[in-house]
Amino acid sequence: QWTGLNDLREKYLSFFESKNHTRMASASLVPQGDKSLLLINSGMAPLKKFFLGQATPPNKRVTTCQKCIRTPDIESVGKTARHGTYFEMLGNFSFGDYFKTEAIEWAWEFLTKTLGIPAEKLWITIFESDDEAEQIWENHIGIPHDRIIRLGKKDNFWEHGSGPCGPCSEIHFDRGEAYGPFESFEQASDCDRVIEIWNLVFSQFDSDGEGHYAEMKNKNIDTGMGLERLACVMQGVDNIFEVDTVQNIMKHISSIAGIEYKKDAKKDVSLRVITDHIRSTTFMVGDGILPSNEGRGYVLRRLLRRAARHGRLLGVKRPFLTEVCDTVINENANAYPELAEKRDYIKKIIGVEEEAFAKTIDKGTELLNQFTEKLAAEGGKVLSGDDAFKLSDTYGFPIDLTEEICEEKGYTVDRDRFTELAKEQRARAKADHAAKAGSSWADNSIKVDAPATIFTGYTDFEAEDAEIQ
Ligand code: ATP
Ligand code: MG
Ligand code: MG
Ligand code: MG
Repeated sequence: QWTGLNDLREKYLSFFESKNHTRMASASLVPQGDKSLLLINSGMAPLKKFFLGQATPPNKRVTTCQKCIRTPDIESVGKTARHGTYFEMLGNFSFGDYFKTEAIEWAWEFLTKTLGIPAEKLWITIFESDDEAEQIWENHIGIPHDRIIRLGKKDNFWEHGSGPCGPCSEIHFDRGEAYGPFESFEQASDCDRVIEIWNLVFSQFDSDGEGHYAEMKNKNIDTGMGLERLACVMQGVDNIFEVDTVQNIMKHISSIAGIEYKKDAKKDVSLRVITDHIRSTTFMVGDGILPSNEGRGYVLRRLLRRAARHGRLLGVKRPFLTEVCDTVINENANAYPELAEKRDYIKKIIGVEEEAFAKTIDKGTELLNQFTEKLAAEGGKVLSGDDAFKLSDTYGFPIDLTEEICEEKGYTVDRDRFTELAKEQRARAKADHAAKAGSSWADNSIKVDAPATIFTGYTDFEAEDAEIQ
């Protein structure tokens, strides 16, 4: 099957090698020497040093397939056709070498010639004032004028604080009538009829962060195409979790749960959520991240616990994540052999975390049920911050889980009060820690088996992650 995920990855990288790009391996999910980012979320992120001139790339033209994590997309996972917290991003990069014309020309050549996607299924967006891009698409490539959509800064301008930035142009695939009507480009995108597949960033300005943009002498190209999305389109499947290698993971979960996919919409969401989260966590542990209560470790913990909980929603009563982890490793061992080398280690970390969570989740769920029954009897709609805090403080029940379960039952949570209590708790812990300082080097060791802990990291990492998107 030449449209397999692994074949498409190889096709892309060798296509850009044929355009004199140097193929570089995916960097770790953990950013190296970059404190502005919690986790690598794009192909460009680990190459920033080359764009900023802080390091010299092996070639002015580089191509990669980069592992990415995007936790801000977590709520969309399993619900949209196109979002995972984990995905691979294909990219071609120019460090002061080629620019718009070649980037557009090669993207078009790859999609329509190499892969044979019919031109009439593709739509182009450009930044509203980027006449140059429009001119290339229309006159050089021959795209009809009404298939080129001008969009504003939110969608088609890439910028992160100060520094290199610029307009972008995106390529979208129309999956046709079966996915809904086409009343407008925006509406068709919202219902996943039209799927964004490739983003071409034209990094041509240097921003001072205060609204002044200077044209750069050395202009850069940074492109990103989701490999799972491309495979989804090429394989004609409904969503990224039905792509060949990813589907095998989902099938394994269905067989453990003893349920069939596509029989119950709610269960399908759980199947896709678990499929996604076990992929992200396997790769995160593979890159050396350990479960903890802050930063990356908390992202990992949250994803694992969420996967475990969705397993329970499917009726799985025993720990099962390490078994699925095996399938993730098998499906990815060709492209990422290091996963197979670390198989036992990865499964150990995930297994310990799942077991620890299993102990707390039953008690926590029971207590939460009592709280919501009380609310129902009183006709209340909001779970108090004190109750939410009790769940997290005593039972290690993560606040996002409390919120998710409450939402399912039609309640909200007093998040402000919860945050207040969590802050107080953190201050107490700090004071306590300071009092004990020097007495125990073991405090620095990472506890993978601590069940009852304070989950205060959520707010922090969300805020942190929100900034980087
Ligand atoms: P969307 O609008 O669909 O959320 P995006 O505009 O946030 O996507 P970009 O930041 O432009 O995405 O990233 C470049 C490419 O990476 C996208 O065109 C898409 O193919 C892929 N991609 C982005 N986010 C995800 C995700 N959560 N899961 C899978 N692929 C993704
Ligand atoms: Mg997005
Ligand atoms: Mg987009
Ligand atoms: Mg985009």
